[in-house]
Amino acid sequence: MSFESKLRKYAKLAVLNGTGLKEGQTLVITAPVNAQEFVRLCVESAYEDAKAGYVFVRWTDDLTSRLTYKNANIDRIANVDDWVVAQYRRFVDEGAAALSIYAPAPGLMDDVDASVIAKVSSATQKAIAFYRQHMMANQSQWSLVSIPNTFWAKKIFPDLNENDAVNALWEAIFKAVRVSDDNDPMLDWDVHNTTLHANNDKLNQHQFSSLKFKNSIGTDVEVGLVKNHRWAGGAEVAANGQIFNPNIPTEETFTMPHKDRVNGKVVATKPLSYQGRLIDEFYFVFKDGKVVEYDAKVGKETLDYLMNSDEGVRSIGEIALISHDSPISNMNILFYNTLYDENASCHMALGRAYPMNVLNGTTMSDEELKAVGMNFSNEHVDFMFGSEDMSILGVKEDGSEVVVFKDGNFAF
Ligand code: ZN
Ligand code: ZN
Repeated sequence: MSFESKLRKYAKLAVLNGTGLKEGQTLVITAPVNAQEFVRLCVESAYEDAKAGYVFVRWTDDLTSRLTYKNANIDRIANVDDWVVAQYRRFVDEGAAALSIYAPAPGLMDDVDASVIAKVSSATQKAIAFYRQHMMANQSQWSLVSIPNTFWAKKIFPDLNENDAVNALWEAIFKAVRVSDDNDPMLDWDVHNTTLHANNDKLNQHQFSSLKFKNSIGTDVEVGLVKNHRWAGGAEVAANGQIFNPNIPTEETFTMPHKDRVNGKVVATKPLSYQGRLIDEFYFVFKDGKVVEYDAKVGKETLDYLMNSDEGVRSIGEIALISHDSPISNMNILFYNTLYDENASCHMALGRAYPMNVLNGTTMSDEELKAVGMNFSNEHVDFMFGSEDMSILGVKEDGSEVVVFKDGNFAF
């Protein structure tokens, strides 16, 4: 079978399993310009397989953005246009589903002033915060997938020529998203989701009060979990009843930490690409839920901007467990792409939590969610801290402890 047929399977998987698009529904695809071949297949599948009412494509280009950041009048672009906001308002009002096709360009923005990126990004985040909240609360279906670009491929495979690097990355992507020459990826995803949902169920039954993480490189942290937290991972049901897969690939089971009950030190085990800039060899020290100390050997300035972008970014909104022995982890590739790297390692996210991670959370008001201990922020930035020697103890309400992870893997 050819590359084209695998690409077609992947597009169908993204539209049908990913967004769970409903007949007559609007689909908004956000994609980089180099994804045109894949995007056309997605549009075709949306109309032919899912009977979409309308598919709208928002094209993006990192190289254009780079030129904008370096040359444009920043006050002009930080003043977000009304029509941009109106566009997102319409997507929310008509209950559109969203498919984001993401191709990172790690390091591309390294010579761009970090304060400029921070200013533009925070203005945009604020202006369309209603859209992000709508999606993060699963009011409608959304899905995130990745495709290669030469820049990203060369970063992962620096010794290969551009063509070979892109092909190698395509092969790694197909493997991670369970698309092969002779399988039905839709069926394989059903099986995979059954496993993920079983992990969620076990953890949900325990209802741990906190988790204690420890490894040999210095992570020693206790993460409190909110009462009635809900472990999620794999397929979700949106408020409109449609089943969707938020991330393709995904290997994680994750829940809501209590914003004030995180104490100790967390040492990152993989670099973080934030707004196109790399942060590496970094750590955080938490006290009563807030970062009170941090440092990075690489990208400290970028980390400073992240830490000061808003109040909530200094607390965490997600804690995720991933066995060290997972398909993505076993490929032993550093992807420089959170969608992939977060599935190779236990991670947490600074910033906003997902309301679905607490019982009835998607129908609670912001005040009710705050009272539960949910963290609010305009950011949600995952970083990886899992390792092959990670141990995790689950602490119950009565103080008794259960081994959750031993030597980097689920122990129950
Ligand atoms: Zn996660
Ligand atoms: Zn996350």
